[in-house]
Amino acid sequence: MNRRYRKTIIAGNWKMNKTPAETKDFIAQLKPHAARAKWCDIVLCAPYIDLPAAVKAAKNTRVDIAAQNMHHEPGGAYTGEVSGQMLRALGVKYVVVGHSERRQYFGETDESVSQKVRAALECGLRPIVCVGESMAQREKNLTLDYVRMQVKTVFWGVDAKDVKKVVVAYEPIWAIGAGAAATAQQADEVGRAIRECIREIYGARCARSVTILYGGSMNPKNAGELLSMPDVDGGLVGGASLDCDGFVQIIEQANQ
Ligand code: PEP
Repeated sequence: MNRRYRKTIIAGNWKMNKTPAETKDFIAQLKPHAARAKWCDIVLCAPYIDLPAAVKAAKNTRVDIAAQNMHHEPGGAYTGEVSGQMLRALGVKYVVVGHSERRQYFGETDESVSQKVRAALECGLRPIVCVGESMAQREKNLTLDYVRMQVKTVFWGVDAKDVKKVVVAYEPIWAIGAGAAATAQQADEVGRAIRECIREIYGARCARSVTILYGGSMNPKNAGELLSMPDVDGGLVGGASLDCDGFVQIIEQANQ
């Protein structure tokens, strides 16, 4: 983390979990802890169906709400989809874009992710854009080249003034839901490469301001070490964000 230049963010990605009632209870439990975490922004990425309850429960708290996906068009004949404009109208502040589960199961590509990043920024949402390599790519020593290519594609067409609104989440696919995270050194190495890539496109000042999260089996036990690295500015936490006590323990370590 480097708070001199950029925000620390802990974002919980609930995936397809929790009802509106559970959402309300979770935020009520989180609220007093969030109030104490002055150095760490807290985001909950909730399923669409929970967003109205989440926004309502998080009003006047230090918790911001994110959607887990959006369509790049503002409206139209896209049955089953939700636009960024709709999310903004609800009071949602962030949107996860290009999570590896959406790439794997729903056919999202770097190009469609790039369209969504630009659409999110246009309607005032902050995208949390996910990048990361497979185990096969890591084993072939392709990690840094692959992630750099992803970063270049997803930032394509993003104006320099908007760069710091983008949060990049480095999520090695092999560590998601695996129970074993990347090492702090691996996370930092890729975080540094992501920042270097942003620096090549937009310059040092922009690059310094971008929050880069690590995601993939972050939990209360490994969070401290991961968050101590200079290019790990927070976490995108899946499984360990479903239990409020565990999530709070991660927030407390990010707040130190
Ligand atoms: C995620 O869903 O983005 C994630 C990192 O999941 P987990 O923490 O469960 O690996």
